[in-house]
Amino acid sequence: MRRGSVGRVPHQLVVIAVTAALLAGCARDGGGETDGTGQRPPTTAASSAASTPAATPTGTSTTAPLERTEAPAFDSAAAMGTVRSLARGGPREATSAAYRRAADRVQQRLADLGYTTRRQAFRVPAGESWGVAVGSGRTSNVVAVPAGFAPERPHLVVGAHLDTVPQSPGAEDNGSGVAVLLELARTAAEVGTRLPVVWVAFGAEEPRGPADDEHHFGSQEYVARLDGTQQAALRGMVSLDRVGGRGRVPVCTGGLSPVRVRRELLAAADRAGVPARACDNRTSDHWPFEKAGGTVARVGGNDSPGYHSPRDRPSTVSPRQLDRVGAVLAEWLMATS
Ligand SMILES: [Zn+2]
Repeated sequence: MRRGSVGRVPHQLVVIAVTAALLAGCARDGGGETDGTGQRPPTTAASSAASTPAATPTGTSTTAPLERTEAPAFDSAAAMGTVRSLARGGPREATSAAYRRAADRVQQRLADLGYTTRRQAFRVPAGESWGVAVGSGRTSNVVAVPAGFAPERPHLVVGAHLDTVPQSPGAEDNGSGVAVLLELARTAAEVGTRLPVVWVAFGAEEPRGPADDEHHFGSQEYVARLDGTQQAALRGMVSLDRVGGRGRVPVCTGGLSPVRVRRELLAAADRAGVPARACDNRTSDHWPFEKAGGTVARVGGNDSPGYHSPRDRPSTVSPRQLDRVGAVLAEWLMATS
């Protein structure tokens, strides 16, 4: 990960930052950096009283340069812990109790990180999901925003579907994406991002029928609730879906939207030293955003031996690949250009 540039941060702010960091004894955390808005970013746990709960992420980021000293490292061991924990809970078909339990835990984790969280509940129809009959019922998205978030101001959405097909514990599909999302949300809460980020764990991404609108129900719901101003404020959306499969990191669009986000992500991969490849794909939560005119990308989708089967276990997820995807996204979220 690229580090250390202070960009156009005024010199006196750097001096204040360094002094504050030294005084706090937490130079590793860059505890005194500014977020480019003249406000201090959330205080890290390490630089405040020992038992202080997680910082409150700020939604007031701007496109002004961020000081990038010693960002907290993406922790692939923590991400693998999330993958294992989700897989241990068994299949998470969107209307199941296991899904609700997983959604509760993801929401709690995001709240613990200081985000304001809510659920978007919606109904899904009965149908067939990868050869298994599924009933109609209720499910939900988990949505987390930084404190002070204003949906009519420029922002990004990073999402990952939390549900699984009925026969799979969903380690790679898509515990991997959720795990990377939670780690990114943690690091973003500590160092900020160039634009405020809405983190979404989507429900009911997996198909309930063959038609184009018979899957991705959670992202369809999210998009349907945006008014015109909010849609215009959404500067980019990334779906993290099956991100633990070995190989070059796939960065796809569905072919409708401008490729700006895909291009930015590929450039971020280049800067982070991560091999990546452009691709076309419509089978994830970026697609409803793209159909609505959004500029999007889907990251992930390399072949996995356990795909949509009971063999989709944590052993099929590469911690190194989670690290690489985390580095690409972190670079993209922090980039000042
Ligand atoms: Zn998936």
